[in-house]
Amino acid sequence: MVSFVRRVERSRGVALDLYEALKHLMRGLPVSGWGVADITGIPGNRTGFTRAISMYRAHDLAAQHDPLRGGSYSEEAFHAAELEAQRDVRAAVEGVRSMLEREGIACRVPARGQDPQTLVGEFSHKLAATRAGLGWIGRSSLLVTRVHGPRVVLHSVLLDAAIPAAEPVTGHRCGSCVACVEACPYGFVRGPAWESGMDRDLLLDAHGCSEKRVEIGEPLGRKHECGLCMLLCPLGSRL
Ligand code: SF4
Ligand code: SF4
Repeated sequence: MVSFVRRVERSRGVALDLYEALKHLMRGLPVSGWGVADITGIPGNRTGFTRAISMYRAHDLAAQHDPLRGGSYSEEAFHAAELEAQRDVRAAVEGVRSMLEREGIACRVPARGQDPQTLVGEFSHKLAATRAGLGWIGRSSLLVTRVHGPRVVLHSVLLDAAIPAAEPVTGHRCGSCVACVEACPYGFVRGPAWESGMDRDLLLDAHGCSEKRVEIGEPLGRKHECGLCMLLCPLGSRL
């Protein structure tokens, strides 16, 4: 089977490197944004990989359930939008992984979940996304993308190849906005603005948020999405 990179080279008659092949591939995958991060030195990165292809899918939330567009919050609608975005981003991750494996390039897809005790994942997809130039960490501790704000599902594929990485984002662009601080009914969003290297606990009471969402999610048989701090961010937008 002719590899993807070589197929692209042949079809265009030019020598395209892996980065160019990635750009070509990404155009056909269900992502709303992506970038390449240099992840050497990311706190907690013990993966041994040097690059992350960071990608996200924005939520598609109907106007009647979008608080920014005059709608009212619906747990069901937000949960469904989250699941749909997760499906798309997983499909994109699989597309990238397949391509890299066909090219014989070692890669790994780190899990998105968190350790239930520490609420820390094996790899920080959010920090990788800041390194990929996709956005910054908001006061809410969510990734705030430049284009779709925090309404995204994020994932990464790790690899060890000298593809060009983006200019990292190292500080917040929230300005004087405190919408997410005011949105949290329980005061879990603490208020300070993010700078690179800042500890999550200074931004968010992550354990308080998680416990409350478990508690109010009991009738649903799952953790409540909540997401008010996400949906009331004025930088959020549709697909
Ligand atoms: S998800 Fe809900 S409970 Fe958690 S910080 Fe955001 S608004 Fe507060
Ligand atoms: S709501 Fe405002 S402060 Fe919070 S993440 Fe969005 S822009 Fe930043």
